[in-house]
Amino acid sequence: MDIDYAREYLPFLSQRATLIAMYACVAVLIGVFVWGVVRRVRAYRGAGRSLWADVNGRVLPWGPRLARAARDAVAQTKVRERRLPAALHLPIFYGMVLLFLGTLVVLFYEDVLHWFGDFQIRGLFYVIFEAVLDLAGLALLVGVGIALWRRLVTRPEHLTPKASTLLILWGLLFMGLSGFGLEAYRIAAQPDEWAAAAFVGWSLSHLLTGVAEPTGTPTTVYAVFWWLHAGGAFALIAGGAWTGFSHLWVLPANVAAHDPRRQRTALTTPFDLAVTMESEEDVELVCGVAATDALAPAERLAADACVACGRCHQECPAVAAGRSLSPRDLMQEIRTALGADLGGRPADRPAADFEDAVWSCTNCYACEQACPSRIRHVDYVLDVRRALVDQNRLDEQKLGVLAALDRNQNPYKLPSHERAAWLADVPYADEVLFGAADFDEPPEYLYWLGCSAAYDERTSLVARATMDLLRAAGVRFVTLGPAEPCCGEPAKRLGEEGRFQMLALTVIEMVKETGARKVVTHCPHGLNVFLHEYRALGFEIPALHHTELLAELVRDGRLRPGVGGSSGSEASAPAGSSSAAIVYHEPCNLARAGRPAAALELLRAVVAAGGPAADTVAPARSGGLRLPERQGVRTFCCGGGGGNSFYQVEQEERRISGLRLEELLATGADRVVVSCPFCLTMLRDAAGSLTGRDVDVLDVAEVLSADRPS
Ligand code: SF4
Ligand code: SF4
Repeated sequence: MDIDYAREYLPFLSQRATLIAMYACVAVLIGVFVWGVVRRVRAYRGAGRSLWADVNGRVLPWGPRLARAARDAVAQTKVRERRLPAALHLPIFYGMVLLFLGTLVVLFYEDVLHWFGDFQIRGLFYVIFEAVLDLAGLALLVGVGIALWRRLVTRPEHLTPKASTLLILWGLLFMGLSGFGLEAYRIAAQPDEWAAAAFVGWSLSHLLTGVAEPTGTPTTVYAVFWWLHAGGAFALIAGGAWTGFSHLWVLPANVAAHDPRRQRTALTTPFDLAVTMESEEDVELVCGVAATDALAPAERLAADACVACGRCHQECPAVAAGRSLSPRDLMQEIRTALGADLGGRPADRPAADFEDAVWSCTNCYACEQACPSRIRHVDYVLDVRRALVDQNRLDEQKLGVLAALDRNQNPYKLPSHERAAWLADVPYADEVLFGAADFDEPPEYLYWLGCSAAYDERTSLVARATMDLLRAAGVRFVTLGPAEPCCGEPAKRLGEEGRFQMLALTVIEMVKETGARKVVTHCPHGLNVFLHEYRALGFEIPALHHTELLAELVRDGRLRPGVGGSSGSEASAPAGSSSAAIVYHEPCNLARAGRPAAALELLRAVVAAGGPAADTVAPARSGGLRLPERQGVRTFCCGGGGGNSFYQVEQEERRISGLRLEELLATGADRVVVSCPFCLTMLRDAAGSLTGRDVDVLDVAEVLSADRPS
C-alpha cells in the first residue's frame, strides 16, 4: 500500500473512511467552538442588554471601529509598541496564521480539487509553499521558546504565569515540534526532488534514514504522533472559545466595540442632569457599577479581552508605590467573575471588593496607554467609585472635599471670598477681570485660573506669570477672578457625577456670559473638563493649555524667549543658562490626551536662546534641557490625579511623587519644570522631603517669564 504521509491516515481505515473520520472530528470541534462562543457572548449579557444592543447603539459608524480592529489584529499595532513582547508575539501570531492558511491550502487541494482532476502542489509554488511554512513553523517555535523562557526562567514581576497560558504555550511547542517531526518522516519516506524546500523537515529527515519506509504501514510512533498533532490542532480550534486562546477573536471584538474617536482622558457621562431636571417624569439617576453583575456588555467584553500580559501592571504608579491596586489583577478578577472560561462559574463581586483598588488609582492612564487590548481601566475605576458614592461608602476626607465643593465651590475647604486674594497684588487685575474690565468687543480668551491658583500661593505665581506673558504678547483675555467656581473635576473624579454636573451647569453659564471665544488654562485637568466633560453636556468651546497658546505666541513672534527679566517667581535665574540644567516632567493628562508637546517646544526655545540645547536623556552634560527616561505618552504620574491630591492613600510603601522626582533628578538636572498645578504641588512636596539637595520646581510659564527680555 502506498502511503501519503502528508495527509490523513488511519492504519485500519480506507482513505475515504479516514477522510470521513477526520472531517467528522472537525465538525464536532467546530460545534464545540461555536458552543463556547455562544456561552461567552451570553456571559457578556448584562444591565438588561445584549452585547449587540449595547455595542450597536453606543457609537456609529462602524467603519473606524472595524478599521482599528483590523489594524490591531493584522499589523499587531499595540503589540509592536514593546520590543520584547513583539519579539515573541509577532513570530507566534504570523507563524500560526501562515500555518493555518497552509493547512487550508492543503485541504483545498487534497479534498476539493482532488475531485476535479489531478491537482497537486508542485513546481515553484511547492518550493515557496514549503519554505514559507517551514519558516512559519520555525518562527512559531522561536516565539513560543521566548515566551516560555520569560514565564519560567526570567519571570518578570509583571508577568504572572497563568496555568492556562502555559498549557497553550506547551501545546504550541508540541504542535511545532511534532509538525516538523512528521514532515521529516514524510520526506525520509518519500523523498522528492523539491524536498529540500522544506528546509527544516529536510534537515531533520536525515536523522530518520532507515527508520521511515517508502511503503507499507508507517511506524506506530508516526501514527501516534500524527494523531497527537491533529488532536492538538483540533484542541486549539475548540479551545479558541473556552480558554485564554479566545483572545484571538475577543480582543479584536473589544477594539471594534469601542469608539476610536473617544479621547483617552475623556470620562463617561452616565446621565445629563439638565435634561433630567427638565423632564416631567420622575427619573432615577443611576450610575456606577454596584457589582460585577451590573457591568454593561461592552465593559464585560473589555474585561474578557485582558490577556494578563501585565503591561499595565508594569506601568502603573499605584503598583510602583505598593498600593492595593494592580490594573492587571483588577481586570483579571472581573474577567474571572464572568465565568466564561472552561470550568469557570459566574460570580457577582460587589463594588466594595474593589474599594481599596479604585481609591488607589491616580487616573494617569498609563495602563490604558500600555494595554494591547485597548481596555479602558479608568472607566471601571470610575464606575466603582460612583457606586461607592451611591452606597455612602466614602471616608471623611472625600466627603469633606465634596461638601466643600457644595459649600465653598472649591475642594480646598477654604472660604470662597478668599478666592481671589492673590489678585490684590496684581497691578492690572481690574483690566483682566470680567465685569470690571472695559472691553469694546468680547475678549478672545477666558483665562481659567482654577482652584489651585486661587488658593495655593505657589500656583498663583504660575497664573501671574501666565497673565504677564499674555499681556506682553497683546492677548485680549479676561478672568472670572473671585467669581470663578470650581470646574467640578474633583467631584467627577471622585465619582460624584451629580455634584459635578451642578458645578458644570454654573460654569457653563458663566463662561457663556463672558462672550469669550476660547478658553485657556494652565491646568490640564481643567482643560480636560472643558474639552470633554462639558462637551458631553452639550457645551462646546475651543480650549487650550497655556503652553499651547504660549508656543503659538512664540511661533508668531509675539513673545520672544531670551535671557534676563523676572516675573518675581522663584525662577529668578535664567533657567536655560548653561549652569542650570532643567528637566521637563510631562503631565499625564496632557501627554496621554494626545495634546501637542508645546511645553517642550517652549523649553527648547528658551534653552536655545539661553544656553546649549542638551535635549537628551543622557545626564552627562551640564546645562540645557533634559528628559527623563519615561516621557511623552509613557510619562510617569506625579501622584496627584484622579482626586488623589485631596485625600491620603494609607496603604502605600512609597510616595508616587517621590518615585517620579527620583527619576527626574536621575537626569542630573536640579530644576524640574512642569505644566500642571497638581504636578507642581506634588513634586514640590517631594522635593521638600529631600535632604542635602536643593531642587526647584517651576512651571513652563515661569521659565518663559523669567527668560523674557524685560
Ligand atoms: S490609571 Fe494609572 S494609577 Fe490608575 S490603574 Fe491605570 S496606571 Fe494605575
Ligand atoms: S489589562 Fe491590558 S495591559 Fe493589563 S494585563 Fe490585561 S491585557 Fe495586559
